[in-house]
Amino acid sequence: MTVDIHIINERCKGCKICVEVCQTNVLDIAKEPNLSGYNPPYVKALEDCNICGLCEMLCPDFAIQVSHIKEENK
Ligand code: SF4
Ligand code: SF4
Repeated sequence: MTVDIHIINERCKGCKICVEVCQTNVLDIAKEPNLSGYNPPYVKALEDCNICGLCEMLCPDFAIQVSHIKEENK
């Protein structure tokens, strides 16, 4: 099982809740602002994500989607 974290930059209002709730420091705030002038998060260390889902659940602007990707059995 692997994870994909999709950040919808233009929905983000730069509150940093996602960065603060992540216990494994997967996310950080980007230097480049979005079109509204807010700095969205970016995925800094995907390999450290434990798929807890907190960032997605607590983002007030629904700007993060965490999805599990099932790997094909070969
Ligand atoms: S799902 Fe959990 S571990 Fe992964 S980035 Fe979000 S808060 Fe961090
Ligand atoms: S919690 Fe949502 S709105 Fe706040 S910084 Fe993270 S992605 Fe942006």
